[in-house]
Amino acid sequence: MKISEIFFSLQGEGLEIGLPTVFVRLFACDLRCNWCDTMYAVEGRDFREHPVSEVLSEIEKYECKRVCITGGEPLIQIKEVEELSNHLINDNYKILLETSGHKMPPPILWAENSTISMDCKCPSSSMQHKMDFDLFVKLRAKDQLKFVIQDEIDYKYARGILNSYNIKANIIFQPTHGSDLGWITKKVIDDKLEFVRVLPQLHKIIWGDKRGV
Ligand code: SF4
Repeated sequence: MKISEIFFSLQGEGLEIGLPTVFVRLFACDLRCNWCDTMYAVEGRDFREHPVSEVLSEIEKYECKRVCITGGEPLIQIKEVEELSNHLINDNYKILLETSGHKMPPPILWAENSTISMDCKCPSSSMQHKMDFDLFVKLRAKDQLKFVIQDEIDYKYARGILNSYNIKANIIFQPTHGSDLGWITKKVIDDKLEFVRVLPQLHKIIWGDKRGV
């Protein structure tokens, strides 16, 4: 499989924020979000190829049973993701899949010890037309649907989707790097969106916009 990087750090986003986690970042993505902060895992040749068995060995070195499969868009390598996830689940790992809302995760990632964190791309990304809203409705109560919000247009778009679809998953509003967390917080409170969690990117607060953390 094409690997951008494997590293051990804190989970910086979503419901598992702050928990030590092994990150497996897969190379390649079929979207081009305007504000993408991992372009090194989207384009170019900055990846290494390993069989799944070697990826598993590298994960084991960290002695942490929590793994985040991220990208890029991991589901571009869906067969390899399935194989890797199968081994991890059999070995009692807990998996978090980070994916964009335009590809159906494979059955193995709907297993009990796997959680799906799906992004809904808002207009500031220019990728909103690629989203498959039916996937959002399929997410379970333990999954998460994350809206990365840059401005008022994104905020209204996210609110509209929440009003239009019956979504069971946890809802997260996360500002793009450098946008005002206080502004989004005030909007959510003023609009009484009591089911929305406003969360920052913790790793960027701690280390800045760096790779491998
Ligand atoms: S889906 Fe993720 S990796 Fe792909 S371009 Fe958008 S932000 Fe970057």
